[in-house]
Formats: sequence, structure tokens, C-alpha cells
Amino acid sequence: MSSPATTTTAAATLTGVSKTFGEGPTAVHALADVDLDIAAGDLTVVLGPSGSGKTTLLNLVGGIQHPTRGRVVVAGRDLTGLGPDELTDVRRDTVGFVFQFFNLVPTLTARENVALIAELTDGHRGGVGDRVEEVLSRVGLAARGDHFPGQLSGGEQQRVAIARAVVKQPPVLLCDEPTGALDIETGRTILELLRQEARDAGRTVVIVTHNAAIAAMADRVLRLRSGRIERDTRNEHPVDPSEVDW
Ligand code: ADP
Ligand code: MG
Repeated sequence: MSSPATTTTAAATLTGVSKTFGEGPTAVHALADVDLDIAAGDLTVVLGPSGSGKTTLLNLVGGIQHPTRGRVVVAGRDLTGLGPDELTDVRRDTVGFVFQFFNLVPTLTARENVALIAELTDGHRGGVGDRVEEVLSRVGLAARGDHFPGQLSGGEQQRVAIARAVVKQPPVLLCDEPTGALDIETGRTILELLRQEARDAGRTVVIVTHNAAIAAMADRVLRLRSGRIERDTRNEHPVDPSEVDW
């Protein structure tokens, strides 16, 4: 019999996962005993109030942090016991991460920010330049490629961050509040893009938000509260991103 890590069809599996920061009476239980399968091809939205553990959940799935207890398997790789270098490899090869605070390189233009990631991921495959232009245009920044982050609005920087994650064509796409800085129209464009990444490209897409309206377009909605999954619902009729309002 093969191990659970290889028989699972889920793109990410958390088993008995807890994450505690600090010790003793001041310890914070950011995640408490979470069991979860996240499937490829689904757009999964994680909802929850500030401090409920949303970012921690993404960080664990994305190999940015190790759990205090439990097991995380992502795209067939068991992250348990991996050292920093191996985790870096998993992140590079498997995960596109849209950080809440963008994490752009300030000394590179928008285009260079995106190209850097494309080249780090698979510069050897060639055709990286075309893919960079295509992704910039998908996020509506074709005309902004030569601007530095400091010359871009918050919403434009956020779209560069999304382009950086998408250009990798990763099996797993993790987005922390990806529409937080966007106006409604731009937000809809981005949500449509993320839905295509899940449905058409078959990626595992997880969007963290505190905005319940965005959850209406998800295939699945996980509600977090105090580090636990309070509700896990499937949306039989997800709303089209063009109709999402907030
Ligand atoms: P959310 O993204 O839902 O706002 P987080 O996952 O960022 O929540 O945080 C969950 C809880 O864990 C919060 O109480 C937060 O203060 C705490 N926490 C997160 N990261 C750290 C850290 N590096 N050190 C100490 N506490 C942390
Ligand atoms: Mg957060």
C-alpha cells in the first residue's frame, strides 16, 4: 500500500495541523488542529475576521512556515521535515504567492519584477518574454511595464504582485487579500483571471479575504474563526465575477 502522501488526489492536504506562536500563557494559537483537503480546479475562498488564522493557513500551505504540529502535503510533496533549502525549492516549483503587502522589488520595473520570477522559475524553457507580456496584459498593466513600483498606485502594485504569481504557472496559487487595493472593476478582472487559473488551467487557487461578497464566486468557502474551520461549504452555483459586488 502506498502512503497517504501519494494516494491523495487533493492538491494540498493538512492533517492535524496546528500553529502556535510563543509559549506559555501568552501563546497564540493561530491554527488549531485543522484537517483539510484543497482540490485542484476549485476556486477556494477563505473567509474570516482579522486574526482568525487566514494568512497563517496560506503560509503553511505555501511552505513559508512549518506547522507546530501536523502534516502538510502540497502537490504530492510532504513538507514535514524539509529544511530551508528544500522548502525554497518547493516554493519555487510549486507555489505562486500573492502577498498581502505585495513584496515587489522596488529597484525593478513592473516588467522586470514579473520577468525575474519567470526566469527564476524556468528561464531555461525560453519564451519567458512573451509570457511576461501576456500576463502583464491580463492584469491590465500592458502600458505600465516600464514603471517602478514607487511610480504605481497601490492597485497597480497589487496587480504586478498577481502577475508575478501567475507568470510562474504554478500548480498552487495562494492569494492573500488579492483585491484589497483594487476598485470594483479591476477587482472583477482579477477575480475572473483567478477563476480561469482554477477552472481552465486546473490549478489549486486559494483566495484569502475578509470580504463575504467575494465568496459568492467561489466553488468552496472555508470560514475560519480563532484558528479553526468553523464552516466548509460548497457553492453549487458560483456567481460570475462580473456580478460580484462589494
Ligand atoms: P489573519 O490573516 O486571519 O488576520 P493571521 O494568520 O495573520 O490572521 O494571525 C493569526 C493569529 O496569529 C493572530 O492572533 C496573530 O497576531 C498571530 N500571529 C501571526 N503571525 C505571528 C507571528 N509571527 N508571531 C506572533 N503571532 C503571530
Ligand atoms: Mg492576514
